[in-house]
Amino acid sequence: MRKINPHDFKVARRGTSREINRQIALNLIRTHQPISRADLARLMNVRRGVASLLVSELLSESLIFEGAVGESVGRGRRPTSLFIDSRQRCVVGVDIRASRTYILVTDLMGRQLGVVSSFQTNREVDVLIQELARRIKQILVDYKEVGACEGVGVAVPGMVDPAKGRVMHAPTLSWRDVNLRDPLAVALGIPVHIENSGKACALAQVWTTRSDVVSSGSSVFVSVSDGVGVGIVVNGEVLRGRHNTAGEFGHVPLSIDGPKCSCGATGCWEAYISNLATLSRYFGQDLSEPRPRDTETANFSVEDLIARARAGDAKALAAVNSTARYLGLGLASIINALDPGRIYIGGEITTAWSLIEPIVRSALRERTLTDFGGATEIHVVPAEDHPRLRGAVALVAAPAFAAPMVA
Ligand SMILES: [Zn+2]
Repeated sequence: MRKINPHDFKVARRGTSREINRQIALNLIRTHQPISRADLARLMNVRRGVASLLVSELLSESLIFEGAVGESVGRGRRPTSLFIDSRQRCVVGVDIRASRTYILVTDLMGRQLGVVSSFQTNREVDVLIQELARRIKQILVDYKEVGACEGVGVAVPGMVDPAKGRVMHAPTLSWRDVNLRDPLAVALGIPVHIENSGKACALAQVWTTRSDVVSSGSSVFVSVSDGVGVGIVVNGEVLRGRHNTAGEFGHVPLSIDGPKCSCGATGCWEAYISNLATLSRYFGQDLSEPRPRDTETANFSVEDLIARARAGDAKALAAVNSTARYLGLGLASIINALDPGRIYIGGEITTAWSLIEPIVRSALRERTLTDFGGATEIHVVPAEDHPRLRGAVALVAAPAFAAPMVA
């Protein structure tokens, strides 16, 4: 079995199976819409008649629709263009974090419908599943106009067995071998897909990037929140490893006798750069310890800390700057190991990017082994883009456009 990458596989040839041609056409329409039949045929490098046949098929299955765009040329008919039919079909994305869980509804193209809602994460998985099911059902009732729900994608802060739909290990939640997918699907009556949050972010990045920009290269997505998730893309495919656990750079030690990590070890990268690690540094106490907090530390977020740093609080700035340095040192390890074309960074710490970028860059240059490694492109994904929720949505929406496994 080999997997066809629909981004790479732009040109159809004689003998290319009909199913793959359909996926190529769908993906080209998605990334270039509005697009005419003639342009589609040109991009696919097939005859007009072949493209038209595919288009008729996709139209009859309501996967695409056609509409008029632009002015007519001369006295002729206005040219019609093709669009993916994302009307009346929605996807729910869920981002589970140790502290809070977030929910977003989008259309089939990943466009946001309505607002992001959130609630405190209950670590009792049965309780969390019931609460999630209740809230998602309510959202689908509240937003009747979004139409039928195609599926629910869940980004999980841990290692996921995609075949069994179980969470193998989520250190920040103290979950081991937790059954998440099937009970949630039963409670909702809708298909549910779960994936590690770093991998989900990486998948969304591949999916939303127009196929004519960056698709076949290698990239890494680093998501910094309660923990650190890393997703790796090699040649346009998310790297999974034998057990779907590849990419756990968050648990590669920066120092073997560093601070305690949620995984039980000490000195992991995550224990230096997670939001909790940054806040712990500021307050001078280990906030990962499960003990009652005073009201100041309990309600204080990394965004609050960054606001103080920007306002001139020297202690806050020092805590943020330390995180920046550790972030750069860890990114250097990733670059030395993988030599990616680009690194994406998401998470609350990125709201301080204008403050911390020089420190991140200098730490990165200090530990990368070549000049081009030190110059690796870093792209910040803004918090308002909700990269983890986009990743969760991509778990449902992206496969609809991906080429199937072919023999
Ligand atoms: Zn660890």
